Amino acid sequence: MTIPHEPPPTSSSGVDPVLAATDVVGEVDGVVIRPAGEVPRAAVLSVGTELLLGDLTDTNATWLSQRLKERGIEVVHHLAVGDDLDRFVAALQWLAERVHLVVVGGGLGPTADDLTREAVAAAAGVELERREDLEEGLIQRFAQMGRRMAPQNLKQARIPAGATAFPAVGTAPAFAITLPRPSPTRVVALPGVPWELHELWDRHVVDELTALAGRRVTVTRVLHVAGRGESDIAEVVEPLVGDRPDVVLAFLAKGHEVQVRLTVSADDPGAARAASQPLVEEVTAALDGAVVGVDDEELESVVLRLLSERGATLATAESATGGDIAGRLARIPGASRALQGGAVVYTDEAKRAVLGIPAALIEEYGPVSAEVTEALAAAVRHRFAATYGVAVTGVAGPDDAELPAGSCFWAVAHPDGEVEVHGRRIPGDRRQVLLRLGTTALDLLRRRLVQP
Ligand code: ATP
Ligand code: MG
Repeated sequence: MTIPHEPPPTSSSGVDPVLAATDVVGEVDGVVIRPAGEVPRAAVLSVGTELLLGDLTDTNATWLSQRLKERGIEVVHHLAVGDDLDRFVAALQWLAERVHLVVVGGGLGPTADDLTREAVAAAAGVELERREDLEEGLIQRFAQMGRRMAPQNLKQARIPAGATAFPAVGTAPAFAITLPRPSPTRVVALPGVPWELHELWDRHVVDELTALAGRRVTVTRVLHVAGRGESDIAEVVEPLVGDRPDVVLAFLAKGHEVQVRLTVSADDPGAARAASQPLVEEVTAALDGAVVGVDDEELESVVLRLLSERGATLATAESATGGDIAGRLARIPGASRALQGGAVVYTDEAKRAVLGIPAALIEEYGPVSAEVTEALAAAVRHRFAATYGVAVTGVAGPDDAELPAGSCFWAVAHPDGEVEVHGRRIPGDRRQVLLRLGTTALDLLRRRLVQP
């Protein structure tokens, strides 16, 4: 890996004033202090050649970004570096010119390729220091585990001089230190093993962040939208958010749903939620029934809640999706309050034998048709004595002899016996078509439960 070159110097200090962490005013007890009102910037630096080889996915960076964002700290870079001392030091120097906080994950083990201690010491311009308290901790940990400690483990008790040590939760002690130049940047070095990283974060790093970020926090409200495209949604939502300085708007297309994400900053989580609530309601109303749920409320749990609030039950007849709709509902705790059961009726014979669909109907219209789907929904509702029946048929892909891939039908049988059926071509590969078909069918039921 090569470290990106920094842009040409545009200030006398040689550092781009836009990117530089020049708003730092000083450091007290090892904590970087910034002027009030400024959003602190952070970077995650993940260490390990496995990351660059594509053998390991950087889930630590994802997790750390979520934690930093919650504390009102803006993550502006994710960087990965291999087990190479020069590149590691160069990466730290590059980041120190741009952020107030660098969280390093990995490279704290005892082997020769674990270089975090050396690299951070070099970037800070200090030596490694043998810490007897950490040595003692290591000896005790190995004794507790009943394992012999290899002499090279003592290497882990040498951390950059002047660093604050975080005693090991696994076997790797972690630490934090401030790089003095070009302006103070706090570096927190944590082990790469995810559970150790999480544990040390909660025990030691959270306190550091409060000093860095002040009490400002951010909360992200997620609106789950079904049945409308991203640009169509953006056209409605963007004018509502306008240029509110306290709200960051983002769209995330997930295949079967689009998430509208409203990130709001305030002094505490309660205030951020309160500040976001009117906007959440406004956006929900403007999207006219397309918002399935907010935050943790996803389609499956919303459908089950709506059904059980009405004392209603559901049965599914699934051809294309092979039971996935029932499975998605069954993953929600308490599903049995509303999910009566389902039939996987993949072949024509199964449709006939299990749900009594006449062979002549299938013969006349084909198994993937409005007529057969409608008959399945009515039959499964009846068969399971459920309040509602949902049925799907489709050609997931590749194209079959009759229909192109993505041709799908879905139907809802209502308590009064009426059946509503829809059909269209759903885009995507086989997996996406099946996921979207299930979502579309469940969303039709949701809409009817909300506004019959
Ligand atoms: P240890 O002290 O336990 O050796 P370490 O600080 O040396 O930890 P690494 O050797 O870099 O960390 O990684 C140990 C293991 O942790 C890896 O094999 C991998 O399973 C996991 N890991 C490391 N970095 C990441 C990452 N960025 N995302 C997810 N998992 C990671
Ligand atoms: Mg290691």
